[in-house]
Amino acid sequence: MNKTILIKNGRVVTGTGKVFENGAVLIEGTKIKNVYSKTPAIKADKVIDAKNKVVMPGLICAHHHLYSTMARGMCPPGAPAKNFMEVLQRLWWRLDYSLSREDVLLSALVPLVECIKNGTTTIIDHHASPSCRDGSLEILRGACEDAGIRASLCYEVSDRNVKGGGLFESERFLAELQRSPSELVTGLVGLHASFTVSDDSVKQCVKIANKYGVGCHIHVAEDKSDREHCIKKYKVPVVKRLHKLGLLGKNSILVHCIWIDDSEMALIKKSDTIVVHNPESNMNNAVGVSKALKMMQKGILVGLGTDGMSSDMLSQMRCAYLLHRLDNHDPRVAFCEAPQMLLENNREIIKRVMGIDVGVIEKGKPADVIVVDYNPPTPFGADNFLGHFIFGMVDATVDTTIVNGRILMEGKKVKSLNVEKIMERCRESAPKMWKRLRERFA
Ligand SMILES: [Zn+2]
Repeated sequence: MNKTILIKNGRVVTGTGKVFENGAVLIEGTKIKNVYSKTPAIKADKVIDAKNKVVMPGLICAHHHLYSTMARGMCPPGAPAKNFMEVLQRLWWRLDYSLSREDVLLSALVPLVECIKNGTTTIIDHHASPSCRDGSLEILRGACEDAGIRASLCYEVSDRNVKGGGLFESERFLAELQRSPSELVTGLVGLHASFTVSDDSVKQCVKIANKYGVGCHIHVAEDKSDREHCIKKYKVPVVKRLHKLGLLGKNSILVHCIWIDDSEMALIKKSDTIVVHNPESNMNNAVGVSKALKMMQKGILVGLGTDGMSSDMLSQMRCAYLLHRLDNHDPRVAFCEAPQMLLENNREIIKRVMGIDVGVIEKGKPADVIVVDYNPPTPFGADNFLGHFIFGMVDATVDTTIVNGRILMEGKKVKSLNVEKIMERCRESAPKMWKRLRERFA
């Protein structure tokens, strides 16, 4: 690793409301040593020229599924799923069941490459691989550390294959992290969703989370069927059930929250629980539109994730922008809120769940910096950055990705992983997994 890296001559966007036209960032070790409004005449072990490019904080994905990679190009057996439950039953629950240990590793490495290429430097992942559950988070930890990407990992506990499946792995992993902490990786306690976990399993998850001082990470009311199941079985909607079981709190993440009512929003607000919005996935699964803007107006912390659809946070941000304009029939909304979810709220979420202050270019902060190949065709400054962000940078490519002071990609060439080899191995393994899936479930 270089002792000092100077990124010079770039348009530096600090993430704290400042833009420097010909700025520079000096990295020393794993931290940002200094930020300059004018490129200084100083030396460094490594110099990166960011002329005609934008230097900004690495992006954060607040909800990902690394394990979903091999669904790409797969043709699930049987008729196409006609609703969300069938999407789970016919695709995801067959796919996760069919993953081998090697598949878990390759499925992670591919999107980690894509994180590097898209400047996504921190992710919160939600993992499932029931046939090789124990030790699976260790495989993901190794992959993230090799790639150089920061990650909060968890295993989704559910009763759908075996009662309390994943509880052992959740605790094992958190204990292992305590014994041997990672510079890049931390953990949460994952749960699949209300309709696949009994009260007993939720209570055990909460107990483990409290023991290790971490939050829970669960899908909430993604589809109307989750709400209906909860009201029918437990006589209360999903957020109320989770509240009664002690799951809410400022370090816990409720993913989606599409089918929730005002009283549930009030509970989320009161408990300061995190919500993560995944617009592309919601549109893909045809489950509905989250009231993300309304939740933000109420003061709920709403972040942005991809739900495994991709590792590209800029396109996800623009999807949120477009979706909420259409949904509200109002071209005045979402211009500030969509970037806010990505740039401000995801930063706050990582502060809470990982205990680190990334997502900002500031002296003393972790050196997670990206250089985006965007040469603005109109004046570019703090006052109009969002216009460039939504309409220009979203289509630009990332040139350089640095995490914790390590250069993971430079000049669009990934350095931390062997991309060709990973893609080749994954292309070999995926058809074997598809065959196992078809043999078991056709
Ligand atoms: Zn998800």
